[in-house]
Parts: sequence; C-alpha cells; structure tokens
Amino acid sequence: MSITGLPPYDSTNIFARILRGEIPSRKVHEDDYALAFHDINPQAPVHVLVIPKGPYVSHADFSVNATEAEIAGFWRAVGKVARDLGLESSGYRILSNMGADGGQEVPHFHVHIFGGRRLGRMVPRPEA
Ligand code: 5GP
Repeated sequence: MSITGLPPYDSTNIFARILRGEIPSRKVHEDDYALAFHDINPQAPVHVLVIPKGPYVSHADFSVNATEAEIAGFWRAVGKVARDLGLESSGYRILSNMGADGGQEVPHFHVHIFGGRRLGRMVPRPEA
C-alpha cells in the first residue's frame, strides 16, 4: 500500500547508508530486524536511534507494510535497547517523527530513545 505524505523510499538516505556500513555510527545493538546507534546530535544524556533493517520511509509505512515478524522484532529491539542502556528504572521516552508536521528529517523509519534526565512535557509550545 502506498503512503501519503512522504515520497517513496530513497535508498540513498543517511540511515540506509549507515545500515549498509557506508558511513560510520556508534552502534549499540544489531539483530535481524533492527540497528540502534547514538544520535549524532544528542538532545538528552542518552539519545539513541533504533531503525528497522527493511526499507520503510516512516512509521506510517512500517505499520502498514512491514511483516508481523519485522514489527515484533523491531519493537522488541526498542525495548531491549532501552533496557540494556539502563533506562528502565529511571524511565525514558520513545518518539517517532512522521512527515512534515512531525518534523521528520530522515526518510527511513526510526524511533528516538531519550533518557538520562527529567525530560519535561511531551511537546514544546509553539514559538511566540
Ligand atoms: P528526525 O527529525 O528525522 O526524527 O530525526 C533524525 C535524527 O537523525 C536527528 O536527531 C539527527 O541528529 C540524526 N542524524 C542525522 N544524521 C545522522 C548521522 O549521520 N548519524 C547519526 N548517528 N545521526 C544522525
């Protein structure tokens, strides 16, 4: 099924290149379904990105077109990465930007994991 709001998957996007090992990343986890690595511009003491291995543009694309195994494997990896980073007792936030209003910059589905400090309210107020 095609997804509105974003163009088709572009295999030259930066996360596709990280998946292929063409550019380096600070990897924290890899399995059959997911790769996790530190964000290059961290917004919290812990800021890790988890991406599926398949070519999905966004969460909208992934939730419709990924297989059950890919969905289960990916979300289990998100939980494992947060656990392995030691964030469960203090808590953490997971977030995925989708499309223009979501502020998505990289067109390969990814989940941000933030932790290591009190993260405040969910969504910042619009700038005055
Ligand atoms: P988005 O706004 O698409 O949800 O988030 C994209 C994220 O990817 C940003 O937090 C940005 O800092 C991160 N990012 C962009 N390019 C790179 C890169 O080359 N390496 C890593 N590790 N993170 C990147």
